[in-house]
Amino acid sequence: MIFYFKSLLVFFFLFSIVTCKSQIAKRASGSLEIINDTTFVNLKDYSQDFVYDMKYATEDNFLKSKVYDCAVCYLRYKTVKALIQANQRFMRKGYKIKLFDCYRPLDIQKRMWKIVPNPEYVANPSKGSIHNRGGAVDLTLVDLKGNEVNMGTTFDFFGIEASHGYLNFSHEIKSNRNLLRRIMAKENFKSFDSEWWHYNLKSALIDPVSNFKWDCKN
Ligand SMILES: [Zn+2]
Repeated sequence: MIFYFKSLLVFFFLFSIVTCKSQIAKRASGSLEIINDTTFVNLKDYSQDFVYDMKYATEDNFLKSKVYDCAVCYLRYKTVKALIQANQRFMRKGYKIKLFDCYRPLDIQKRMWKIVPNPEYVANPSKGSIHNRGGAVDLTLVDLKGNEVNMGTTFDFFGIEASHGYLNFSHEIKSNRNLLRRIMAKENFKSFDSEWWHYNLKSALIDPVSNFKWDCKN
């Protein structure tokens, strides 16, 4: 009888993991936890293999304004999982992902919209963007010494040259962009035509816009 109840408990535990899209995750520290796919997490807690240049935590961005209190990359856990897989693929080829922006709370989107209320440059907060849903990343590649790969333009360059469709570049630049796009696509990230640095995790498009805020003391 006790065995029966124990089996039943294990069954319900496994059932809840499957139905809630929860799973056992291993943190970079080695500890294990049960986590849901849509929970917001700090990428650094799951991998130490990324390079960070969080532009909106500085004044070195097109807004000329620091809109984040600290330079961290929060995303929904499923986005983190896919990003780590993509980074491992890049590392096998001698590159690493360098991040410019990750999840962006809705309040920050509103602040950006207030500074630059132009939908060509900033998503209107009334609709929200995939960054507000925890499923978008802005990134480039660096070599294993940390030197940025040549992608033809800088991050947040607002011109036709930032588009995937712009082909008037050297073979090297085109092949760098293609490498980024090809590997990201293998992990279910969709490119964005007018910004070579922006990728959306396909399964995050249905997640709600969020205003979760991280604690800079952690
Ligand atoms: Zn973006």
